[in-house]
Amino acid sequence: MPPAIIDIGVNLTHRSFAADLPAVLGRAQAAGVAHMVVTGTSLPGSSRAVELAAAHPGLLSATAGVHPHDAKHWDAGAPQRLATLAERPQVLAIGECGLDFDRDFSPRPDQERCFAVQLELAATTGLPVFLHERKAHARFVGILAEHRARLCDAVVHCFTGTKAELHRYLDLDCHIGITGWICDERRGLHLRELVRSIPPGRLMIETDAPFLTPRDVRPAPRRNEPALLAHVARAVAAARGEPVEALADSSTATACAFFGLRLATG
Ligand SMILES: [Zn+2]
Repeated sequence: MPPAIIDIGVNLTHRSFAADLPAVLGRAQAAGVAHMVVTGTSLPGSSRAVELAAAHPGLLSATAGVHPHDAKHWDAGAPQRLATLAERPQVLAIGECGLDFDRDFSPRPDQERCFAVQLELAATTGLPVFLHERKAHARFVGILAEHRARLCDAVVHCFTGTKAELHRYLDLDCHIGITGWICDERRGLHLRELVRSIPPGRLMIETDAPFLTPRDVRPAPRRNEPALLAHVARAVAAARGEPVEALADSSTATACAFFGLRLATG
């Protein structure tokens, strides 16, 4: 039996999974993925994530939130709709939310407003937050720090930043999500060094599938999927110089504590 691992960020409502989701879930379980948290990135997308989780109790949960790319659609009714969605038992975190000044698909003032309101919702619901930051570290940390004391837990998902950024997040008592970016020989090499300084109780793993296919999987898969979390786990364990079983145990325990999850024992 492969060690039990938890994919804390997987976009299973993405159209690329529409045709073969049962097979994708089957391969994930065979690879040791005991639970997956389906990322909500818009109001309709979060709704679909919740329905998907409701259809697979014990295996799937969901987050509910609006990605900074979608912040331009954040209107007066959005906070209430998101709050209602967040009451569903499948929702374990608010997000993904944050700032993305890399692509700037939404105007920055819209991104900032949408982010702050979701942090507020996380504070009032007591749910942890699932955070996205790309090329926006200073502004992101400024907004997060204002709210941090009232938030329970916060994970910076798909961390790809610098050493100074990592330590700023750890100082803010954030958890860190590591994806297959660490397998990228062009732009992920620095992560192999940095993951060594993440305390085990702060480190979780994710695929962010169907995006970010680990570049060193052979033969190259046509798309990323949660079964490849086992590959990410091996890469992170190798970088940290620890057995994959130890990394699996600590990241799974950390994810269970963060999301308030209890894995079904079988
Ligand atoms: Zn993201």
